[in-house]
Amino acid sequence: MALDTNNVKKDFPILERLVNGKRLVYLDNAATSQKPKAVIDAISNFYLNNNSNIHRGLYTLSEEASNMYDSARENIANFFGTAKTEEIIFTSGTTESVNMIASGWGEKNLNEGDEIILFLSEHHSNFVPWQQLAKKKKLKMHIQNIEEDYSYNLEDFYSKINSKTKLVSISHASNVLGNILNIKEIIHNVKKINSQVKFFVDGAQAAPHLLINLKSLDCDFYVISGHKMLGPTGVGILYIKKEIQEEVEPIKYGGGMIKEVTFDDSTFKNSCERFEGGTPNISGVIGMSEAINYLRKIGMDEIRNHEVELLNYFFEKVNEFAGIEIYGTKNILERTGLVSFNLIGIHPHDVASVLSSEGVAVRSGHHCTMPLHKHLKLPGTVRASFYLYNDKKDIDDLFTALLKAQKILS
Ligand code: PMP
Repeated sequence: MALDTNNVKKDFPILERLVNGKRLVYLDNAATSQKPKAVIDAISNFYLNNNSNIHRGLYTLSEEASNMYDSARENIANFFGTAKTEEIIFTSGTTESVNMIASGWGEKNLNEGDEIILFLSEHHSNFVPWQQLAKKKKLKMHIQNIEEDYSYNLEDFYSKINSKTKLVSISHASNVLGNILNIKEIIHNVKKINSQVKFFVDGAQAAPHLLINLKSLDCDFYVISGHKMLGPTGVGILYIKKEIQEEVEPIKYGGGMIKEVTFDDSTFKNSCERFEGGTPNISGVIGMSEAINYLRKIGMDEIRNHEVELLNYFFEKVNEFAGIEIYGTKNILERTGLVSFNLIGIHPHDVASVLSSEGVAVRSGHHCTMPLHKHLKLPGTVRASFYLYNDKKDIDDLFTALLKAQKILS
């Protein structure tokens, strides 16, 4: 059944506001999504009724807060297809999660001469932590190029996997090209060559748009930013496969993750709490769980189908529009709901500011992927990214504003 965007829009109060006297057309969902009222209410209700610290008090409020936090973890684990709640660790976001694994796992398990492999299109958050680790530990870092048609030459990628390869770290979906990778098949093929290779997946741009089943993917690490999927900022989901949690050192020592402390040494909990030292983002996690409830209610398949419909419409409009250059695969079924483009001869920042004056919010620049933009020989791109509340009218308004930008700027 088609998504009823008129009704969905009503759940997002911010979409009612005017920007520069115009209706807000929010097309920067790859940077962060808007929040439904249910999520805002869940956070506000927590502070109004249940606020207290978790797992530390024997009084009613603390028991309530602890139950809410623990149930949120269960709910989120369930949504992402792992029955093992201890595999879900809360962080502040994808960036923190990558850094936690690069430091907590990489520092301990990678040694001089070991090889790691990434794709050229990685977001800086899934590039720089590994690059810095490689420098520090003298690792060999392979960077897999992209082809002229924006695809990845997977045969060439597989040929770089050998007995020294210790880690592959790739994005499930690119934040610029939108390409969705068949992670399950890639993991399977890499592990056939070397079963010891660890797989880190940056799911920041995939999890908001596709139903992720962590058990079936069979990766070792998977990271998600809650704020890109209707949740609040400051909540990340770090999945670490149970079997390898022992290999990962916590990087935040402190309260909540301790078994015993003596003058000489300390021992740590075995569960997910081992990685969550200090007071966590309790209200944020509760809000995130509500975001998951909302996504579940709408249906991830419905969201995906809706985005495919929007992409089709976007590309129909592109066909009628002269002077626009699109980056990324033309195959809509291999794309998430985002498109990066340029108006030929016009700087992306100039385009974005004319669009803003028309109430249309898009992102412009290198989108934290400098290596990719350098490879494409582009100073930047404009990126329009869709989500469940966007509709064809939003795309019409985008193209009207683009025409205006073209008239003013060329
Ligand atoms: N990876 C990808 C693919 C992203 O798109 C982003 C956010 N733009 C990040 C990592 C970083 O996410 P965060 O800023 O939420 O840590």
